[in-house]
Amino acid sequence: MSNEVVFYGNKALRVKSTPVECVNDDVKAFVKELISTMHENKGLGLAAEQVGRSEAVCVIEIPTDYDIEKGAEPNPVSPGIGEPLILINPEIISTIGEQSGSEGCLSFPGIYATVKRAESVIVKYTSLENKTIELQASGLLARAVQHELDHLNGVLLVDHMSQVQKIGVAGKLRRLRKENRSK
Ligand SMILES: [Zn+2]
Repeated sequence: MSNEVVFYGNKALRVKSTPVECVNDDVKAFVKELISTMHENKGLGLAAEQVGRSEAVCVIEIPTDYDIEKGAEPNPVSPGIGEPLILINPEIISTIGEQSGSEGCLSFPGIYATVKRAESVIVKYTSLENKTIELQASGLLARAVQHELDHLNGVLLVDHMSQVQKIGVAGKLRRLRKENRSK
């Protein structure tokens, strides 16, 4: 089972998530749906808001050969994690350094923006097994964590764009907003 991804303009993307109180069967079923929706759409990550929900849950999966396939990255980033990372009630507790790179988002099809992020982060979250975990991530994984946590706070790719970047994709943004604002 999977859900439809919602696009920029849809109000659901601006909703701040609500913490999950207990990792019960409903939450586990929802995580499964999120993972299959991420796979179907070939995304590197997906947050609850992107399927119109508001639980503080996101999933990330970076294929182990992602960087090799891309080949164009100037710096090799952290190796892929190869299996879905499931973050429940995640929060970033510390950040180190800075990286700048191109970012896309399933809710902004065909739009990419150069976004500045921390080079590494420590993220604290609850696992599917209801354990509290602190994970240090760097490179692409750190970027994905920061991107998905933004979604849980109602923050979107467009919010990171400079005025110049926005002008470059203004037509695409306008079209998305128009098509999705009533949803
Ligand atoms: Zn996104």
